[in-house]
Amino acid sequence: MLDALVIGAGPVGLACALEIQRRGLQVAIVEKGALVNSLIGYPTNMEFFSTPELLEIGGYPFPTSHYKPLREDALDYYQRVARAENLTVHLHEKVVSLSGEQGNFLVQTDRGEYAAKNVVVATGFYDLPIFLNVPGEDLPHVSHYYKEPYHHSRQPIVVIGAKNSAAKAALALTRAGAQVTLLVRGPEISQSVKYWIRPDLVNRIAEGRITAHFNVQLTEITPTAVHFTTPEGSGSAPADFVYALTGYVPDEALLGRLGIEPDPNDEARAPLFDPATHQTTRPGLFVAGTVCGGRATSRWFIENGRHHAQLIAQYLGTTKATAA
Ligand SMILES: Cc1cc2nc3c(=O)[nH]c(=O)nc-3n(C[C@H](O)[C@H](O)[C@H](O)COP(=O)(O)OP(=O)(O)OC[C@H]3O[C@@H](n4cnc5c(N)ncnc54)[C@H](O)[C@@H]3O)c2cc1C
Repeated sequence: MLDALVIGAGPVGLACALEIQRRGLQVAIVEKGALVNSLIGYPTNMEFFSTPELLEIGGYPFPTSHYKPLREDALDYYQRVARAENLTVHLHEKVVSLSGEQGNFLVQTDRGEYAAKNVVVATGFYDLPIFLNVPGEDLPHVSHYYKEPYHHSRQPIVVIGAKNSAAKAALALTRAGAQVTLLVRGPEISQSVKYWIRPDLVNRIAEGRITAHFNVQLTEITPTAVHFTTPEGSGSAPADFVYALTGYVPDEALLGRLGIEPDPNDEARAPLFDPATHQTTRPGLFVAGTVCGGRATSRWFIENGRHHAQLIAQYLGTTKATAA
């Protein structure tokens, strides 16, 4: 039986597995997609906000030729670390539920099951988009994930959202020759957009290269346009393609099936856990990484979430030593 099973092979899940393994415990990871799956879904050539030393795990240096790493650098780095540590990773296998109790858990997946004394949930947040809930959202030219601009040169494109992902997509699409309309629910581009991206976008709007509408309520997406209202009246924007970049939420249904309780006093519904050990109210079940913040997906990211690994591993290592 494994000492611990880690669910999710993102940066934090990998950090957890390697720290647990370094304490002489038997550990494996189950990942529903590829190794570092969420980063694979990020935009091509995306530049991280963090400098490389803040993304490092396991003490492995993260060398990059730029000031900030690209998605491809990070993918290469985390996948190399997993190989260097010889981590056991079961890929393309989705965890669906958990039975048993500490010391004798059974983790059910869509392909089988694993017995483990403890379970670490590091499932992140990137799988479930925050839906717009407007007619037409399910049309094939609407996506909640942006990859790269090159399909869209000389096409009318609507970007919905006003945070970093929407801002970066609108700028890249414009520079690739798309005619971009940005639809924003609030009165301005979010002040949380990084300080080197926001002025770029605000200036492109001011010079008319990007059309922006604020205080927007969406009413319908059709195959050729997005319809909306603002305090000034109703409007529509032509759209051959629509990027709805309005954020993501963790899989709360899965967390519920695993027996993770949300904190009733936290409007982000973050899991209840002991901050010293990251153990949840279900003994032997731990949370790590972005999932610790519930719907507040920017509360924990790689920079600060990677440190959860040492806390969990230290606790499991001590518990094992005491039991022996
Ligand atoms: C565009 C963008 C830029 C970013 N830039 C930065 C930055 O500069 N610095 C920074 O610190 N953070 C940044 N972040 C945030 C950072 O990427 C996340 O906080 C980080 O990926 C969280 O790591 P994690 O291991 O907790 O979760 P994730 O990386 O989301 O990994 C979770 C893994 O769990 C898997 N999984 C989910 N459900 C199941 C299941 N049921 N069974 C099995 N596996 C499952 C997923 O497939 C995924 O691989 C950025 C995020 C985005 C979107």
